[in-house]
Amino acid sequence: MVKHNGKTIKKFGKYSVIDCRSCKFIHVIPVPSNQELNLFYNNEYYQNTKPYFISKNENEMNYWNLIFDEKLVTIEKLISSKSKRILDIGSGPGFFLRRAKRRGWDVIGVEPSPLACNYAKEQNIPTIQKFFHEVTSNEIGKFDAIHTFDVLEHVNDPIGVIEKAYSLLKRGGVIVVEVPNDFNPLQKLAQKALKKKEWWITFYSWSKTSGNIQHLNYFNFSSISDLLKRIGFKIIIKEATFPLEIFLLMGQDYIKNPKIGKKIHLERIQFEKNFEKRKEGQLKRKIYQKLAEIGIGRTAIIYAKK
Ligand SMILES: [Zn+2]
Repeated sequence: MVKHNGKTIKKFGKYSVIDCRSCKFIHVIPVPSNQELNLFYNNEYYQNTKPYFISKNENEMNYWNLIFDEKLVTIEKLISSKSKRILDIGSGPGFFLRRAKRRGWDVIGVEPSPLACNYAKEQNIPTIQKFFHEVTSNEIGKFDAIHTFDVLEHVNDPIGVIEKAYSLLKRGGVIVVEVPNDFNPLQKLAQKALKKKEWWITFYSWSKTSGNIQHLNYFNFSSISDLLKRIGFKIIIKEATFPLEIFLLMGQDYIKNPKIGKKIHLERIQFEKNFEKRKEGQLKRKIYQKLAEIGIGRTAIIYAKK
């Protein structure tokens, strides 16, 4: 058993968010059990917490496919193998794998939510409806690439997830991890400037009837890279996504007002599409990789190699 201890950042009832000395990243204690997570992801998440996730993303799929292509092209350049077998951990409705499949990848997803899993299966995306920790290597075999997007912040053993991913990758294989970049310098500045609570800590409503155990872990560029390195990965690329906190600092309070949230989301998409339209996608990525160097960006994307 890991002994979690470190400075308390926030308290909610019996839960605390701590800067854990043994895990070397920020997380909630006590860590929710597998049983609690089963209940939440089987019955809650896609049903009640994010009911419009699938339709909203389908409507913006031309944008998301650009983003997926960027990742896939990068992986394709980094792997040395001829085979193209990819695993998506927490594959949701299968959006990323649908694109990968179209590019000739042999794809497999692992996803606990029955709703998301069925959606993926309807799109002919092979998906195992389980938690990643329940899947055996005999069941799924080895991979040239592994992708995991907005997943590590939700799981109760992110170190175990990365260890298992490492064991499932072939030598020279590539992992792409994307997580929210939390407690980042712009976020903390905006929090002070706008006198807000830490809005990125999504654990507030735990005590309410439905329970909200969304984000258990809070990474940044350095803690997620360190975790990958500790397990044996070699970091290849660090890349940010648009630092949405800039909008807050410009007076557009998307935390308070969902209408502003919608607006700034579309503005950010427009910003990125303008690069693509002019075939300047590389310039955009250069900017985002520079931001990653100083720990800025709404999410942290890490490409690492076994
Ligand atoms: Zn810990």
